[in-house]
Amino acid sequence: MKRARQNFLTKNLFNREFNVIPFKNSKLNHIKRIVSFLIVILIAASCKTVPITGRKTLNFIPDSQVLPMAFAQYDGFLRENSLSKDAVKTQQIKDIGNRISKAVDRFMRANEMTEEANSYRWEFNLVEDETMNAWCMPGGKVVFYTGILPICANKDGIAAVMGHEIAHAFAKHGQERMSQGVAAQLGGMAVALGTANKSEEARQIWNIAYGVGSQLGMLKYSRVHENEADKLGMVFMIMAGYQPREAVNVWIRMSQLGGSQPPEFLSTHPSNQSRIKTLTDYIPEATRLAKKFNAQMLAQ
Ligand SMILES: [Zn+2]
Repeated sequence: MKRARQNFLTKNLFNREFNVIPFKNSKLNHIKRIVSFLIVILIAASCKTVPITGRKTLNFIPDSQVLPMAFAQYDGFLRENSLSKDAVKTQQIKDIGNRISKAVDRFMRANEMTEEANSYRWEFNLVEDETMNAWCMPGGKVVFYTGILPICANKDGIAAVMGHEIAHAFAKHGQERMSQGVAAQLGGMAVALGTANKSEEARQIWNIAYGVGSQLGMLKYSRVHENEADKLGMVFMIMAGYQPREAVNVWIRMSQLGGSQPPEFLSTHPSNQSRIKTLTDYIPEATRLAKKFNAQMLAQ
């Protein structure tokens, strides 16, 4: 459903961008060939590696372009939504966010990502909304919805979700999705993003890429991205001093909610059961990595 909507959107943008230009066919074909060639070059030059997991990704949308947009989108979201009036819960979200972001920041500075660390503007807010959702935009802009707090249940559960969402931003999953969309559509999305970042279309692309509008924001990405965020998130939460077992318990509670879940092979997301197993199996490795990174930072 979401994929269909995204295709529809990007197709529309693509058609719109190219239909309004009254080129003759031959000239249009020539331009298409040049654009295709440039995109191949761009893709070759845009292969990056996700720190810690070492996964190769495609990302040619630079932070310098995305971060100012993320900060503006975040401020806009906060203006249009109500912050929780529960001061205690709000402070808990901010405290846990600060602890995990400090661990991520220290990791970046110890691993030649100082420029990136400097560009982050960490912020943590709790909005009054019963949707079971949380997300982190590029540059460290986090929102928790009150609806996800029962699943989190305690500070370690909040840290598990916080670590997971921050990991999506850290690994630049949204930019990777945008890059894939751009590559697939020969620049239609890039044109839209570059020229009309206040338009409704750009806002929708943004929301799709970052899961802002989705029910169950934690299930918004592909299996690969979810698994990677689960693993990175667990490393970050341990670095910040939280109990990784609670990441498993969050998904046990999620599975106990019931509701119909599609079989995993039909879904782009890992099933709750496979997620519980992956997280459980990863606790020793995440603990080893967290200890290593914390020691590395102390040595500096
Ligand atoms: Zn996720």
